[in-house]
Amino acid sequence: PSPLLEVKDLRKHYALKRGWFARSNEYVRAVDGLSFAINQGETLGIVGESGCGKSTTGEMVAQLLEPSSGEIWFEGRRLTGMNEQDIRHVRRELQIIFQDPYASLNPRMTIKDIVGEPLKIHGLAKGRELQSEVVELLETVGLGAHQLDRYPHEFSGGQRQRIGIARALALKPKLIVCDEPVSALDVSIQAQILNLLKSLQQKFSLTYIFIAHGLPSVKHVSDRIAVMYLGRIVELADRDDLFAGPKHPYTQALLSAVPVPDPTFRKERIVLSGELPSAVNPPTGCAFHPRCPYVQPICKIEAPALKPSGSRHMAACHFPLN
Ligand code: SF4
Ligand code: MG
Repeated sequence: PSPLLEVKDLRKHYALKRGWFARSNEYVRAVDGLSFAINQGETLGIVGESGCGKSTTGEMVAQLLEPSSGEIWFEGRRLTGMNEQDIRHVRRELQIIFQDPYASLNPRMTIKDIVGEPLKIHGLAKGRELQSEVVELLETVGLGAHQLDRYPHEFSGGQRQRIGIARALALKPKLIVCDEPVSALDVSIQAQILNLLKSLQQKFSLTYIFIAHGLPSVKHVSDRIAVMYLGRIVELADRDDLFAGPKHPYTQALLSAVPVPDPTFRKERIVLSGELPSAVNPPTGCAFHPRCPYVQPICKIEAPALKPSGSRHMAACHFPLN
């Protein structure tokens, strides 16, 4: 079967303006040539440091941000270049949950209105029917009818994320981009929300893109993981393969930087040296070369392509680890 979502050579470049009068041909290459596919029911984890382009990728997939170039295919249809009329319908099936549920919920709206709004906008329900759909959605995420008339500030962080999830579910999406959905929550609450997302995935056969800073956050939810560095995927593999045998030095560094002891992590601890370079003027050749412990002369000249390194395992490195 063809994948539910396919992204081909996706890019998002922003023109950089230095001063109001300045003409510049410098670009921030937020996302710089991304290709991946996701099958229905699968969870793809996307991991990387701030500024690596993971949220930008999620927003382009969720149709909140226009790509500079490249293609997004969903259910065999090309979304990039599709007209407004058609895209409106597809948008229902692509939802997003944000990191900070408080910032993404309108503080002046009741929970009933927040969760019911998508249904209203798309003309799918009104009146009593709308209310009962909202109650059902709230119950699906572990909240209840007695909370309909309350406002976001009356809820805890975890509850607010449940509200955000209920709202995302309202239009019966097929794919949900989860952009760091638990990183703003107390550790004790994180597992609850992750378990909720997992059970919803089963119940509604949802497909997830799960974005996070670090590998531990995606370990238990992902089937496959893409590691991003400065706008590109540097490694893409099945979760267990990635943890057991990272091929890219950056992934290895991410794994060894984890403070929690875990037998699946490699013994050698590699400390990343240097700051994350900027996406404005990324380093020549392999963008990771200034921080890479294995750098060779060719790495500074030639950018490595993402290519197979073992079965179902891709890495963008001239000297993949084994
Ligand atoms: Fe390191 Fe070279 Fe591989 Fe880049 S291509 S990750 S610099 S070994
Ligand atoms: Mg982000």
